[in-house]
Amino acid sequence: MDLSNLFKPFIWLEKFARTYSYSKTLPTLDGSAETRAWVAARLFYQDSTQKTDILNPEKTQTQLIAALQYLIKKGYFLEVTAANSDHHDDTDLNPTAPYCGTHHHGWALDFWPLNTAKSGDYMDAGIHNFRQFLVDLAQCPFYMQTGLAGEAYTAANMTAAGNGAFQDDGGDHIHIGTQQ
Ligand SMILES: [Zn+2]
Repeated sequence: MDLSNLFKPFIWLEKFARTYSYSKTLPTLDGSAETRAWVAARLFYQDSTQKTDILNPEKTQTQLIAALQYLIKKGYFLEVTAANSDHHDDTDLNPTAPYCGTHHHGWALDFWPLNTAKSGDYMDAGIHNFRQFLVDLAQCPFYMQTGLAGEAYTAANMTAAGNGAFQDDGGDHIHIGTQQ
């Protein structure tokens, strides 16, 4: 008798269980100072307070760091236009604690994607890569919503950004809001 056939269904079940549990794994939250510093070193800034905010857990939530790490690892270069200290109090955007998605409580960042690792080399809001960026943005861990303002706000970009998209106020920027 060939016993190996008896075990085949169990091997298959074990494989299925492993695949299923992997696909259901929630994003892990890496609150290490190293990861925060790694992200801070790879963003581009318009104001020095922005980098200080990114490095400070009191000013930037770890969930937002995880989302930014995801985008950087995908190969994107991001120039920050507003972080926490240089943004007005936007608690009204989500007035229930812990105020997910707001700048004032460290859940959000305004930025613009760059073509290359060079400040000011702004990606054109009308090209495919920009829309692909918005698709990838909506896949970030702890993602909550995408705000599109100024030149970023077009019908094609709203579609690419998906269900979490809204028209944002202010100058040209993309707003990412994260949550727990
Ligand atoms: Zn914003």
